[in-house]
Amino acid sequence: MEQISKESILEAKEKLGDRQADMIADILSLKQYNQSRHIACCPLHDDKTPSFSYNARSGSYFCFGCHRSVDILDAWMMKGDTFLQAVEKLFQEAEMPHNFSYRGVRDNEETEFCYPEPTYAPTKEHVYAYWQKRRISPETIDAMDVQEDTNGNTMFQFYDNADVLRAVKFRPSRPVPHGERKCWWLKDEKHKELKPYVGLLFNQHKLNISEPIIICTGEGDAMAAYECGFHNSSSIPGGDQNLNWVSYQWDFLNRCHQFVLVYDNDDSGRKYIKEITRRLGEERCKVVDLPETWEMPDGSTKHIKDLNELLFYGGKDAVINAINNAQERQIESVIDCSDVQDIDMDGIDGMKTGFKELDSCINRSYCGTVSIVTGVPGAGKTSFLSTIINEGVDQGFPTWVYSGELSNNALRNWTIKCRAGQYWLDKVVRDGFTSYQIKPEAIKKMDEFYRDKLLFFKDTYDATPDALFHSLESCVRKYGVKMAVIDNLSSVNLGAFGDKYWDAQNQFIRDCIATAKRLDVVMWVVLHPKKMVEFNRAPDLYDLSGSVSAANLAHRVFSLYRVKEEDRQPDKNGKHKPYTDCSVQLHIMKDRFTSALGHVYPLYYDPSSRRFYDNLDTLRKNYSWDKEEHKEPLPFLTEEQIRMANGEADDSDPF
Ligand SMILES: [Zn+2]
Repeated sequence: MEQISKESILEAKEKLGDRQADMIADILSLKQYNQSRHIACCPLHDDKTPSFSYNARSGSYFCFGCHRSVDILDAWMMKGDTFLQAVEKLFQEAEMPHNFSYRGVRDNEETEFCYPEPTYAPTKEHVYAYWQKRRISPETIDAMDVQEDTNGNTMFQFYDNADVLRAVKFRPSRPVPHGERKCWWLKDEKHKELKPYVGLLFNQHKLNISEPIIICTGEGDAMAAYECGFHNSSSIPGGDQNLNWVSYQWDFLNRCHQFVLVYDNDDSGRKYIKEITRRLGEERCKVVDLPETWEMPDGSTKHIKDLNELLFYGGKDAVINAINNAQERQIESVIDCSDVQDIDMDGIDGMKTGFKELDSCINRSYCGTVSIVTGVPGAGKTSFLSTIINEGVDQGFPTWVYSGELSNNALRNWTIKCRAGQYWLDKVVRDGFTSYQIKPEAIKKMDEFYRDKLLFFKDTYDATPDALFHSLESCVRKYGVKMAVIDNLSSVNLGAFGDKYWDAQNQFIRDCIATAKRLDVVMWVVLHPKKMVEFNRAPDLYDLSGSVSAANLAHRVFSLYRVKEEDRQPDKNGKHKPYTDCSVQLHIMKDRFTSALGHVYPLYYDPSSRRFYDNLDTLRKNYSWDKEEHKEPLPFLTEEQIRMANGEADDSDPF
């Protein structure tokens, strides 16, 4: 289906020009309309003297009394049209051809959803009566196509962008006591497996994408906004803890240019608003801060929970003020010293690495920070990171990965093998070579479980900094990505050569730091040492490519060193070097948050699953997709692992 774009709407409006003033006046039968000055009485409030004035530049009317605006699409929708119907009229008037044949047509290819066929009561008396108590008028009920079922319940109807009814949500037309079910979705006899939850917004089919769209938390709030003249109002389909609708609505949301977000006055609402502005893009969002309390004429104060309560206690003016005073949440370049929040590291979101000892020392990898991982080729950077990626995804950190070294295919293989673990591998010997293959049933389960949670930058794309950051940002918005991995910096196309190259690398690290902070993601960047020579130690900050400043800018620097056979040999006094009884040493070269600097952690590498582990529990660990309890011993233990297992048994023996 050919989607309506904001640009094509603007083009059509431009073609109509000032004809729109007369057309809107005509559609809405504006009172006291002055045809030469294009002003009239406002249809949205009780206006005695004309304060509704046409603005030629925006092609819409603006009311100087109640500060609301109406364009030609709004005017038709006020008369009952859907957005699509209104656009069709606009395009006809502007003589712009567009195929609208998909309107009202069920898209049968989409099998995920069904088409509800609700039964309505002959009248809406219970619905009107209940909502009138909440100060929502029958006009608003009708305009938002709210219905009543045969038991007197309220029915909220959700239509898609083709004006097709896709879901119906019910609630009792009375206050619902705690513990009782507050709402439910229409079930369909034909579709036992019906997904009652769709990602549509309430009133979506009447949203004008060329104007700011109000998104509330509940249907009652969306109706409250509508009641106060904000017709471009909607609400999210589930509770404020479920943001699945963002990825489902991705194309639609991308066609909108501004959102006015209304959240509930509670902890869950505050958490939601932080996450949703991050997902929709702070530059597109304004946020309505509801007053905490409202003083009543009798001197008592009422706590305000949501927009509908503000309408109830404060009246229409209170709602209009709150929405008109919505604040931009743009990132400014300065902040008032008094507004700078004291940082409590425990309060900052972040992911654990999954390595017990390391986590006890560095606590977490925090959102908004950049960690550099370095090491010579073969030191284990990719395995270390694929373990980190799996940990992150498992802890609820959807992850975006750019790998300049591995094809998408190899990267997939690498990460899923690590996620499968030894229990789900088959040993295959062919032509004398041993390999380990993941059992097909495990692959299927993992793919289902982790869909939308791990995104790879396509290996066919040119990895310029712009392309990478743009891709990451889109994934943060669409999928709620919270972790980014860039492996590695030298494969990024920085577009600079010779002396300029090192400056470009530093700039790239700076951009990584700014991006991690802006998008609030945990970022890992692989940086090679300057010289790719054989090190007999872990590379330090001065070995890193670029100048030292790249490492100085990052929040953390981890250096990996693969223990060599000669490291394991005792010196001439018969002493063994520390941390040589492992595969890889992880050195902390820099840590801005803790005193972990200089610490070394022994890590082990499992060749069959390619998993990094610090003890056998990590190696045995089931990731969330794997619900099976594995009682049998690990099938592909190496000699080193058998020694470890014996050591574990010894630990329990005090003698
Ligand atoms: Zn007005």
